[in-house]
Amino acid sequence: MDFDRIKEKLSILADAAKYDVSCSSSGSKRKNTNKGLGNASEMGICHSYTQDGRCVSLLKILLTNHCIFDCAYCVTRRSNDIKRAAFKIQEVVDLTINFYRRNYIEGLFLSSGIFKSPDHTMERLISVAKKLREEENFNGYIHLKSIPGASDELMREAGLYADRLSVNIEIPTKSGLKLLAPEKDHTDFMKPMEKVKNEIIQYKKESKLIKHTPTYAPAGQSTQMIVGATGESDRDIMYSSAFFYKNYNMKRVYYSGYVPISNDPRLPALNSQVPMLRENRLYQTDWLMRFYGFDIRELLNKDFPFLDMDIDPKLSWALRNRQHFPLDINKAEKRHLLRVPGIGLKSVNKIIHARKFKKLNWEHLKKIGIAYNRAKYFITCDSREKELRELSSENLKSIIIQNSQSKFRKKLNNQLSLF
Ligand code: SF4
Repeated sequence: MDFDRIKEKLSILADAAKYDVSCSSSGSKRKNTNKGLGNASEMGICHSYTQDGRCVSLLKILLTNHCIFDCAYCVTRRSNDIKRAAFKIQEVVDLTINFYRRNYIEGLFLSSGIFKSPDHTMERLISVAKKLREEENFNGYIHLKSIPGASDELMREAGLYADRLSVNIEIPTKSGLKLLAPEKDHTDFMKPMEKVKNEIIQYKKESKLIKHTPTYAPAGQSTQMIVGATGESDRDIMYSSAFFYKNYNMKRVYYSGYVPISNDPRLPALNSQVPMLRENRLYQTDWLMRFYGFDIRELLNKDFPFLDMDIDPKLSWALRNRQHFPLDINKAEKRHLLRVPGIGLKSVNKIIHARKFKKLNWEHLKKIGIAYNRAKYFITCDSREKELRELSSENLKSIIIQNSQSKFRKKLNNQLSLF
C-alpha cells in the first residue's frame, strides 16, 4: 500500500466532505453479532456533536471528488480547478477498520461526487458498506449518501448495509435549484427518498411477521439544505423542511450555512458568510415543530417570513401572541406549557409531575430549572409576586434580552439560549 498516496487522498477527500453536515448517527440499534467489530447502539456516537451541532466521531470522507455535475454551490463541481482524488473500495474498508481499531472513529460517513453515472457511484458506495458488513463483520455505524438519480434496486440494497441513508436536497426551493444546478431535477432527489421511506415501512411490517427479517436503514433517512446560497426566506426553508418531515418520514433535516466558495454571479459574494446564528435559529424552529407541537405556519408565515435574530423563535412567537398568556403553571395543559418561553420539554414534564403533590411557587420553579428571567412574564404560580405583564411586547423583549444570561451571549453578543 502506498501510504503517502493514501494520506494525500485522505486529506483531499476528508476536506471535500466537510461541507456535508448531515452526519448525525442517532437512532440506530444495530447490535454486535457474531463477535464482530463495533456496535452502533452502544458506541456513544449518538451524541458526538461539536458545539455547533456537527458530528465528529465518524470517518467522514468522499469516495471521490470527481463529479460529472457542475452545481454552482459545490466545491466538487466539475468546473472547479481543484486537486482530485478517488479511493478504491478496499482502501475505504481498510481505513475504516484501521481507524476503528485505533479508537479514532466509531463509524463511517461515506459520500461521493458523481462519476460516470448515479448508479455506478451508488454501486461503489454500497460495495464499501457490503464489504465492511460481510467480510469484516463490522457492526459499527455506517451512514451512506444516496446518490440522486440512483435506481430503486440500488436504494433497496443500500439500506440493507447502512444504518442511515441521506439524499441532500441542497437548495430548498425548486427555482433556486434550477438557477444553481440546472442539470439537476427535484425529482432526482425525491425518488430515492420515496424508495427509502417505503422500504423502511415495508421492512418494519415484515419484521413483525417474519422473525429474521433483516434491518433496513434502522436509523432512517436525513437530508441537508444549504442556507443562504439563494435568496430564500426562513419561511421557504422551514416550509420545505416541514414537507420533508411529513412526506418522507425524515429523522432529521440539517441546515448548513452556505460557505462562499466561488465568485459566480449567481451566488452571494465571497465575503458574505451566512451567520451561524441563522443556522441556530432554524434548528430551534425545527425543534419547536418536532417536539413542541408548533405548526410551522404559527412560527413563519407571509407576514413574518424571517426569524428574529435577537431572540429565539419561541419567545418571538409568545411576544406576538400575548393573548395566550399568562398561564397558570398549576393548571395549564402540557401542550400549552410547552409554549412558554424559558420552559423546555424536560421542565414541563417535571412541572406536571411535581404539581400532583403540591402547588408550585417561584422557588419550586427555579429549582426545577426553568429559565426564570424569561418564563416569569408568561406564567402565574402560587405566589403574590406580580411581574410586568402589562408592558408592551417591544418593551418586554428589551427587558428579556437585557436580563438574558445565555451562555452564548458573551461570544455572539446575542441572546441565543433555547427555550
Ligand atoms: S452532484 Fe453533488 S458532488 Fe457533484 S457538483 Fe453537484 S452537489 Fe457537488
